[in-house]
Amino acid sequence: MSSPPVPLGLDPDAAPAVSRARAIPTDLAARLRAALPEEAVLTEEGDRGAYLIEERSLYRGEAPIVLRPGTTEEVATAVRICAEAGVAIVPQGGNTGLVGGTVSAAHEVLLSLGRMNRIEEVDPLNFTMTVQAGCILANIQAAAEAAGRLFPLSLGAQGSAQIGGNLASNAGGINVLRYGNARELTLGLEVVLADGRVWNGLRALHKDNTGYALKHLFIGSEGTLGIITRAVLKLFPPLTDRQVAFCALRDPADALALLSMARDRAGEAVTAFEIVSGFALEIVTRHAGGQDPMAERHPWYALIELAGSGESGALRPVLESVLERAFEAEVVADAAIADSLERAATLWRLREGIPEAQKRAGGSIKHDVSVPVSRIPAFLERAGTAVTAALPGVHVCAFGHLGDGNIHYNLSQPEGMEKAVFLARWEEMNGIVHDIVADLGGSISAEHGIGLLKARELLRYKDPVELDLMRRVRATLDPRHLLNPGKMFGLV
Ligand code: ZN
Repeated sequence: MSSPPVPLGLDPDAAPAVSRARAIPTDLAARLRAALPEEAVLTEEGDRGAYLIEERSLYRGEAPIVLRPGTTEEVATAVRICAEAGVAIVPQGGNTGLVGGTVSAAHEVLLSLGRMNRIEEVDPLNFTMTVQAGCILANIQAAAEAAGRLFPLSLGAQGSAQIGGNLASNAGGINVLRYGNARELTLGLEVVLADGRVWNGLRALHKDNTGYALKHLFIGSEGTLGIITRAVLKLFPPLTDRQVAFCALRDPADALALLSMARDRAGEAVTAFEIVSGFALEIVTRHAGGQDPMAERHPWYALIELAGSGESGALRPVLESVLERAFEAEVVADAAIADSLERAATLWRLREGIPEAQKRAGGSIKHDVSVPVSRIPAFLERAGTAVTAALPGVHVCAFGHLGDGNIHYNLSQPEGMEKAVFLARWEEMNGIVHDIVADLGGSISAEHGIGLLKARELLRYKDPVELDLMRRVRATLDPRHLLNPGKMFGLV
C-alpha cells in the first residue's frame, strides 16, 4: 500500500512532477503560432500568469506556452501539433477545481478553453441547450432562465467555473439530491481526442441506445481521455416556488430522520438538504457576517429547501407540515422558515459562507467524502472520535450535502496551535478519515475529483480490478499519456 499524499503546499518550492512526455522542442511555439490565431498562443510570462495559479497555493503551474483556442478546430489543431511533438497538454477550464487537476509542469503546454464561451443554442421544447466548454456556469444558468428553463447545476464557484471543467470533473454542488451530478445533466458531448481527431457525440437525444455511452467515459475523466469542447445539457422546468427552513438538531441521526420525513411528504420537491455543524455555524457568524437565526446554540443544523414549478407559496404548507411532524417526533429542536426570498438567501448564506469563514478562522485540513446517506451519522461519529483522539482540540467543521451523502469533513486548527504545525498533520488526518470512509463503503472524492491532490490516495483505496480497467481505458484513448499526465493516476 502506498502512503496518502503529502500536499505540496507544505513545501512551496516542490514542483509537481507530473509528466513523462517529451520536453518542449524549441520550435513548438512557432509551429503553434503558424497554425493558430495570434491571440491563441501566449508565451510571455505576464500573459501566462493567471493560468498557472492554483487557488489554494498547494501547487504552482509552470507551462511555458498557454493556448487559448477559440474553436473546436483550433483545439484539434493544437492537440495534433503537440501530439506530433510528443508534448503533453494540460486542459484548463475556470481553474476552480481545488485538487490540482489543471496544474502544468515546465515541459507541458496548457490549453485554456476560456475563449470557447458561446451558448450556441437553447431549445426550450427539447429541454436542452448546446454550449461551448468555456461557458461560465452562471451564464449558462442565466441563459436557461431567460428561456424559461432551469439548468440546475449550482456550486460555490459558479461565477468563474466553466462547464467543460464541471463536466470533466463531474461536478456536484447543492442540487444533486434532486437533479444528479453534472453527469446526469449531459445528453451529448463533442471531444477532441489525444491524436487530434474530433468525436462528435453532440446529440440532443433523451433516448439513445446505440452502443456504449462514450460520453460517460469523458465526463469525470479530468482531461485524461480527451478534451471536452462542446456539450448538450439537459434543462428543466423553472422553479417558481421556493421554501427554505433552517433547523436546529441534536445530532446527525435527527438530520437523517428529518430528510426522510421531508422526502416522504414532499417527494421530488426536496431540492437541497444541507447539514451544518455547530462549529461551522459559529465561525460563519464570527467571520462571515452570518446571523444565527436561533435563540440559542445547537450541536447541529440542517438547511432544507423545497422547490417546485407550481404557484408561489404552494409548498409553504408542505414545509410547515414536515416541520410540525418533526417537532412532534422531537427530531427538530427549533426552526426558522424564510418568509421571503431575501430571508431564504440569508439562511443559505449560513451554509454558503462556511468555506470563506474557515479561511479566516486559520488553517484547515479538508476532505470531500461521501458515504451511503444512511451511514452519515456513523461516519461523523467515528471520524469525530478518531480525529479528536489523534489531535485533541481539533475543531470538526463538517458541513455539506447530507441529502446525497457528500460531507465536506474539514478540520480547523486547535486554539493556540501554529498553522504550519497543524497543516503538517494533513496526511495523517486524511489517512484517519479516509480509512473510515472506505470502511463504510464510501468515496474519498465526492465532487471535486482526484487531480494531483488525491492521486496517491486513489491508488490506495481503489479496487485493483477497477484501477486496471481505468488504466486500460486510458491506454486505449491516450496511449502516450499526453493528456493531463500525472492527474488521477499519479506517475505511472
Ligand atoms: Zn460541495
